[in-house]
Amino acid sequence: MSAIETIHIDGHWRPAASGGTREILDPADATVLAVVSEGGVEDTDAAVEAARRAFDTGDWPRTPTAERAALLRRVADLLQRDREEIALIESRDTGKTLEEGRVDVDDVTAAFRYFADLVTNESGGRVVDAGSADVHSVVVHEPVGVCALITPWNYPLLQASWKIAPALAAGNTFVLKPSEVTPLSTAHLMRLLAEAGLPDGVANLVTGPGDPVGARMSSHPGVDLVSFTGGLVSGTKVAAAAAATVKKVALELGGKNPNIVFADACADDEGFDTAVDQALNAAFIHSGQVCSAGSRLILEESLHDRFVTELARRARRIRLGRGTEPGVECGPLVSQQQLDKTEAYVASALAEGAVLRCGGKRPEPSETRPATGYFYEPTVLDRCTREMRVVREETFGPILTVETFRTEDEAVALANDTEYGLAGAVFSGDTARARRVAARLRHGTVWINDYHPYLPQAEWGGFGKSGVGRELGPTGLDEYREAKHVYENLRPAPVRWFAG
Ligand code: NAD
Repeated sequence: MSAIETIHIDGHWRPAASGGTREILDPADATVLAVVSEGGVEDTDAAVEAARRAFDTGDWPRTPTAERAALLRRVADLLQRDREEIALIESRDTGKTLEEGRVDVDDVTAAFRYFADLVTNESGGRVVDAGSADVHSVVVHEPVGVCALITPWNYPLLQASWKIAPALAAGNTFVLKPSEVTPLSTAHLMRLLAEAGLPDGVANLVTGPGDPVGARMSSHPGVDLVSFTGGLVSGTKVAAAAAATVKKVALELGGKNPNIVFADACADDEGFDTAVDQALNAAFIHSGQVCSAGSRLILEESLHDRFVTELARRARRIRLGRGTEPGVECGPLVSQQQLDKTEAYVASALAEGAVLRCGGKRPEPSETRPATGYFYEPTVLDRCTREMRVVREETFGPILTVETFRTEDEAVALANDTEYGLAGAVFSGDTARARRVAARLRHGTVWINDYHPYLPQAEWGGFGKSGVGRELGPTGLDEYREAKHVYENLRPAPVRWFAG
């Protein structure tokens, strides 16, 4: 298979300076989907230089807001035009189902439209009362400069767009590095940005590994801001690398997300069905490879036996297979590495005393599930405790752990007993209780009687080691801007601080 050029610098597609390439595998059968450019430090430096030039001397930072917003809307239209093609690319690259791929394209489209609207509706500066009629004081927002954007493999297009859309809306230029495992949809998005009319050099793409490409982006003196989405270990390295040049740093890291279910949520059959259904959705969508996955079920003790029995029964019925096959509900894990990690977490949980209720193994191969694919059965581990590794660490696989509580205080204490703080949910039929518990959860997003929805107009991000900063919402735009105070004296006169 011949290599495609996936490095995009100053408006041109090119191979890696070293000539290096990487095979991108289909996780459903481990065959080669594409061969892409494997960039290195030389490519990264060239991309930063192009972005720096486009920012310092190009038109984009000074382009009127309405024109920038119009470009974002054109990108949104192009995404919808290519919806099926992109969904297919994303499904084959990550393993997720085609339907999930379509939802991603729609969410990405919404993000581009949201940031276009947000900047369009701004009044352009906030006048500040300086306490004197002789002073005009205004706070304006300006682009940060050159942004380094680094993204993970689970939602390649979505995570890139949550950065690209506000970065461009604010007038920045950028260098983007997608995960080396799943670069294909990001390369397509770069082509759409060019088609929409983005000037050369504003958007640059370097495909390649975290080290050296991401590491060089994080430490490069020509970069003003680094926005990273990925795991805690890499995020810590990015923050350390960025410190020497005092870059702005935004980190969207992992989570270990609690899903609390009170017995009063299951007072009737419909409530029970909803809570079980949502617990499955929380834990197993995209085979659990979701930063906000509800991988910790925290269940009221009186509900335990009936709830876990039904949960396991339905988890066993989840249809596993190639994401592009009709009727498939869960695709494979993204890589052999994720499969190995999942197997190791299940083994450690069983060694620590967890009780296996379903899954815990690779499925039998079938026509839609080749033996070479990275499939793993949805797994429910019962009688877990907060000390277990599988409860403390982000597994990022189809593993749901079950803990129980007797009191509201106990439920909150369990849910907050994590170094992370990305997301969590509470299911209760008692509105006052649900809101009380939501208020006490130390997590960046809390769902009440729901799991997973997010809105482009509402901030997304984590407490604790889930990160620094926020994406989406007005704060997600402000991450990409500097505030500048302009103080104008309308009646200049000496201040006579010094006598002479
Ligand atoms: P990862 O940390 O391994 O990689 C993420 C990105 O960082 C990749 O592009 C990788 O090449 C790059 N990278 C690796 N080492 C680097 C270094 N030293 N310097 C700079 N860049 C480096 O994460 P992953 O396995 O791709 O993704 C899964 C993780 O992402 C999970 O922890 C998940 O929770 C997290 N995630 C968080 C959010 C969120 O919104 N908070 C969203 C999606 C994924």
